[in-house]
Amino acid sequence: MIEIPKLAVPSIAIAGSRERFPIRRIFCVGQNYAEHAREMGSDPERQPPFFFTKPADAAVDSGMRLPFPSRTADLHHEVELVLALGAGGNDVAARNAPEMILGYAVGIDLTRRDLQAQAKKDGRPWDMSKGFDHSAPIGPLSRGVPPPAGAITLAIDGNLRQAGDLKDMVWNVADIIATLSTYVAVAAGDLIFTGTPAGVGPIRRGERVRGMIVGAEPVDVAFY
Ligand code: MN
Repeated sequence: MIEIPKLAVPSIAIAGSRERFPIRRIFCVGQNYAEHAREMGSDPERQPPFFFTKPADAAVDSGMRLPFPSRTADLHHEVELVLALGAGGNDVAARNAPEMILGYAVGIDLTRRDLQAQAKKDGRPWDMSKGFDHSAPIGPLSRGVPPPAGAITLAIDGNLRQAGDLKDMVWNVADIIATLSTYVAVAAGDLIFTGTPAGVGPIRRGERVRGMIVGAEPVDVAFY
C-alpha cells in the first residue's frame, strides 16, 4: 500500500536570517501598471487590475537553476514587488493594511504567454499559463513595509529588459490588500505579487534572469 505522504510547507528565504517564511497561498495582481496593461492590449482607464493565483509550491528561491518549462515556446518574465503577510482578515481597511505586511521581496511572475493567449481567446482559466512548476522565483524577504517609490527592473544576461517605478502602480500595496480581502480572507503566510511594469518579453533556454528593486535583495535564476 502507498504510504500517506508527509508534506513540507513551501517557504522562501528571509534576508539575513536562517528562518524561512512559510507560504500559505500566492496571489497575483494582473495589469497593475498602466503601461503594461496597454502592452497587453487592455485599456487601463476602463479595466481595473484583477487577481489570479499560483500554487504555494510554485515558489523557488533565488540562485536556482530551473528546467525550462514544458508546453511553451514563449516563456515570459514579469518582475514584481512581492508582499509577505504576517496577519490578515476580511474587509481590511486600506489604512490598516500596511501593519499586516511582514516583509517584501522581488519576484518573477513567470508566464507561458502562448498558453495564456490561447486561454484568453477561449475564455478559459489561466492556471496552466501562470501556476506551473517553478513559476514563482522570489528573492530573500526584507522585513518591513516596501518603499512607495523606487526603481523595479529586470535584466537578462545583464541586458535591461524591464524598468519601472513602484510609484506607478494603479493599486498601491494598501489598496491591493484591502481589495483582495473583500474577495477572500487574507492571512499570515500569504504572498502577493503586485503586478509588473512594461517591457515583458521572452526568456530562452540558457539565459540568466535577474529582478531588482532598489533596497531589496535581487532574485536571480537561470534556465537550462
Ligand atoms: Mn504578473
